[in-house]
Amino acid sequence: NTSLVWFRRDLRAFDHAALHHALRRGGKVHCAFIFDKEILDPLPRADRRVAFIHACVAELRAELQQLGGDLIVRHAAAVEEIPRLAAELGVDAVFANHDYEPQAIARDESVARALAADSRPFFTFKDQVVFEKNEVLSQAGTPFSVFTPYKNAWLRKMLAEPACLAPFDIEPHAALLAPPLPAPPPPSLEELGFQRGDLDRLGIPTGMSGGARLFEDFLSRLADYGVARDYPAVRGTSHLSLHLRFGTVSIRHLARTVAELSARGLAGEGGAVWLSELIWREFYMMILYHHPRVAVSSFKPAYDAIEWESGAEADEMFAAWCEGRTGYPLVDAAMAQLNQTGYMHNRLRMVTACFLVKDLGIDWRRGEAYFALRLNDFDLAANNGGWQWASSSGCDAQPYFRIFNPVTQSQKFDARGEFIKRHLPQLKALDHKEIHAPWTVPRAVLERKGVRLGENYPPPVVAHDEARKRTLERYAVVKAGG
Ligand code: FAD
Repeated sequence: NTSLVWFRRDLRAFDHAALHHALRRGGKVHCAFIFDKEILDPLPRADRRVAFIHACVAELRAELQQLGGDLIVRHAAAVEEIPRLAAELGVDAVFANHDYEPQAIARDESVARALAADSRPFFTFKDQVVFEKNEVLSQAGTPFSVFTPYKNAWLRKMLAEPACLAPFDIEPHAALLAPPLPAPPPPSLEELGFQRGDLDRLGIPTGMSGGARLFEDFLSRLADYGVARDYPAVRGTSHLSLHLRFGTVSIRHLARTVAELSARGLAGEGGAVWLSELIWREFYMMILYHHPRVAVSSFKPAYDAIEWESGAEADEMFAAWCEGRTGYPLVDAAMAQLNQTGYMHNRLRMVTACFLVKDLGIDWRRGEAYFALRLNDFDLAANNGGWQWASSSGCDAQPYFRIFNPVTQSQKFDARGEFIKRHLPQLKALDHKEIHAPWTVPRAVLERKGVRLGENYPPPVVAHDEARKRTLERYAVVKAGG
C-alpha cells in the first residue's frame, strides 16, 4: 500500500483522523499541502491568513520530518493537483478530513471523481468537529434548528460515548511515513504572491506550538471565562478561533481537557460556558451542512422580503461603518480593532453587526462579506451564523425587535471606556460618562479635551432612536413569521 494524506484545515501532526487512518492501513504514507490557487488568487496580497497558514505549514513540515516523513507543498489548483500528485507518487488511495462548506464539498466530490477514474479511492473522515452531519438529531430524526436542545443532545451523546473525544494516535505508526523526496523546498510567501504579514507585531502565535501556548494560557483563566468573556477590554476569551479554523489545535483535545476539568470541579463556571461555545461552532457547521442555501439566503425565507437601504447614501453609510467612523465610539473602536488586527471580540461582533443591520438598515450580507475579508478567523459557518443571528434572519436568532442600543452596550461592557481609548486615542481624555456618546457632551468640554466633532471624531451618522423606529417598520414584513 502507498497512501497520500491531503492536509487542508487540519494543520497538525497529532490527533489527526486522516493521517491516523492512512498510517493504520500500512505501507508508506506521503503527506501533502496545496496552496490552492482557486482560494488564493482572489485574495488581497496582504492577507494575514495566508501568512498564518504559511507559518503553520512550515511547522507541520518540520514536525512530520521529525517523525521521519515529509510534507510535499505545492502551489496549484488543488482539484487538479491532488489527482496529479497521486499519480506521480503512484499511491493507491488518498486520505483527507471532512469539510462542511458547500464549495469544499464540491471540490472534494470533483477530486473523488478524478481519483476514481484512476481507480484510486478517496477516503475521508470526521476530524474538525466532535459530532458531524446526522450524528446529533432531534427525537424526530431531523437536524436541530434551535441551539439549546441541540446542545443538550450533544452533551448527552458526549457523556454516553466518551470514545468520541479519544485522540487519533499518530506516533505508534509514524515509521510508515514516507521519507523526504528530492523535491524543491516549499514556495515562500513571496513566491505565492503574498506579502509578509504583521503576525509577529500583533503577537499572533502560529502553528501547533502557538495553538498549544494559547490553550495553556487560557486554561489558567478558564474559571473566569463565564464573566470575563463579555468585556472587550479584558483578555477573557481564548483567542483560539484562528487555530480552530486551521486545525492547529485538536477539537477533541480541547473538549476533553475542559470536560475533564469540569467533571473534577476544577473549571468553575467557565468550563461549561466555554464548552457551550465550542458547541455553537458545531451547531453552525451543522446548519450550513444541512442547509447550504444559508450561505446566500436567509435561514427564515420570509426575511429575504426585507427591503434594505441601497443607493449612494447607503453606500456612504456602509463605508462609514467599515472604516469605523459612525460616531458611536464602541462601534468605531470595534471596527478599528478589526481593521488593524483582523480580530474582533465576540460581544463587539454582535454590536457592530446589529448596528449595520438595524441602525443603518443595510443588508446583513454586505457586513458578512466585509467580515469575511477582514477576519483572521473567518469561517463561513460561524460568520454566516453570527450575521443571521444579528439580523434575526437565522435559526435561533435574536427576535427582530431586539435592537442593541450602541450607547447602552458601551456603558455596560466597556464602562470605563478602556477598550474605546485603546483604539480611538483621540477620545482618551473623555471620562467614563462622556466617552460613550461624545455628541452629548458640551462643545467647550469636548474642545478642552481635544475632541473636535466633525474634525478628529465624527458626529453620529444616525440617531439611534429614529433608526430603531425605521427598523421596526422595515421588519414589519416578517412580523407574521416572526
Ligand atoms: P472563545 O470565546 O474563546 O470561544 C472558543 C471558540 O468557540 C471560538 O474560538 C470559536 O471557535 C467558538 N465560538 C465561540 N463563539 C462562537 C459563536 N458565536 N459561533 C460559532 N463559534 C463560536 N467565529 C469564527 O470562528 N469565525 C467567524 O468568522 C466568526 N464570525 C462571527 C460573526 C458575527 C457577526 C458574530 C456575532 C460572531 C462570529 N464568530 C465567528 C463567533 C465568535 O465571535 C468568535 O468565534 C470568537 O469571538 C473568537 O474568539 P475566541 O477564540 O477568543 O473565542
